[in-house]
Amino acid sequence: MYDFIADLILHFLIMMMIPFAHKLISRRGVRMRIASPFLSVLILVLFLTITFPVEIAGSQFFDFKFIPVFVAFFYISPLSGFLTISVLVTLKGFFSPGDMWITLINYSIISALFFLASKFYQKCTFRQKLSVAVLFYLPITITRYVIFLQEDINEEAVYLLLFSASSIVTLSMIIYLIEMNLHQEKVMQKLRNADKYNAISQLAASVAHEIRNPMTTVRGFLQLLKNEKNLTEDQKKFIKISLEELDRTNLIISDFLSLARPDSPVSSKVSLSEVLVEVAEFMRPFGLMTKVEIRTTIYEGLFINGNQNEIKQLFINLIKNSVEAMPNGGLLEVSAFKNDTSADIHIKDEGVGISKDILQMLGQPYYSTKTKGTGLGLMISFDIINRLKGNYIIESAENKGTTFTIKLPLYISSEEIQHPSFQNLSKGQHNN
Ligand code: ADP
Ligand code: MG
Repeated sequence: MYDFIADLILHFLIMMMIPFAHKLISRRGVRMRIASPFLSVLILVLFLTITFPVEIAGSQFFDFKFIPVFVAFFYISPLSGFLTISVLVTLKGFFSPGDMWITLINYSIISALFFLASKFYQKCTFRQKLSVAVLFYLPITITRYVIFLQEDINEEAVYLLLFSASSIVTLSMIIYLIEMNLHQEKVMQKLRNADKYNAISQLAASVAHEIRNPMTTVRGFLQLLKNEKNLTEDQKKFIKISLEELDRTNLIISDFLSLARPDSPVSSKVSLSEVLVEVAEFMRPFGLMTKVEIRTTIYEGLFINGNQNEIKQLFINLIKNSVEAMPNGGLLEVSAFKNDTSADIHIKDEGVGISKDILQMLGQPYYSTKTKGTGLGLMISFDIINRLKGNYIIESAENKGTTFTIKLPLYISSEEIQHPSFQNLSKGQHNN
């Protein structure tokens, strides 16, 4: 019994090399880059666990080889998984040639199942991942147990159960530690991005501010000129237009400054429905330039808490992107509905779509695939959604189109939403 426990502890310690190595190696970069050194550690662990197996009933040997195989498949790539299994079969063939065929058949089945599960695994939550691990390990335990019973080694079966329990606990701990590690990496990445973003917004704010000073001078001189007596009607008109345009520029800069400064915008109750209608109307001519029809289905009486200019900016950015994604024209649908506690806005285009690689880059400052793009639109938009305490989902299929779904929390005391009705702005279409 003591020997058995000592063996288990030894194996547990060997296995702990896996999360430890993951931590050390992944600190240097993202998941992909950890592939080869991490794989070497897995193979070393595999070698150790097979070389010093746990002995049960004098004739049966067990080890934790399942664990490095599992990690290689699900935390590096199926290819690494197959490689680990080849090493495993070779080692098995070396240490116990008699069992080699059973191992080969067993692990062929396991690798096929792992391969099928590997895509699905990436999308699982932590609990689901643990369930996957248990689900794979359970049949192994049951088959072993049946073999034990067949060979009439009943008394030792309890060791087998102990062994299986400890291997599943060990695997769960490893999954937990690796997941924690990946999570930490993600948070760090976000922090680094936030840093970059902060620097840019400060820079932009200071540039915008600097533009204001010369503008004030120009405005002052124009004002003086306006009072000049011997001006023609035309000249008076030009000066008036110039002053108006300067005021408009000033307004834009104010908006921009309020956008770039994270804490300044004042929040209030904003009619999301009205803002959406306004923005859609405002963007309609822009769409028509490339034959994009903007169709709206907007639920009336949606109110949210936020800064009106920011909310406008958010939808201008998204609609502009959707129009730009359809250079040969198409339909752009903007819809907004009331959900339980949120307003759900969909912006759906039939444009070029976004590939998986690009999807990961979205929202990073200066990331643009357009020749004249700034790559700031989405970054600002995501930041606004964040500040509105909302969230978003991007669904996209290449060459088919993209749908941005944004969920924004409704204004709390929403007595206004008593008789909601549909308002359809697009001509020739009526929904009730
Ligand atoms: P910009 O529009 O200046 O390129 P954005 O931050 O607004 O910058 O967008 C970044 C990138 O995201 C775009 O260059 C484009 O590749 C992609 N993108 C955003 N929205 C869409 C969309 N609706 N359809 C296809 N690609 C999109
Ligand atoms: Mg854009």
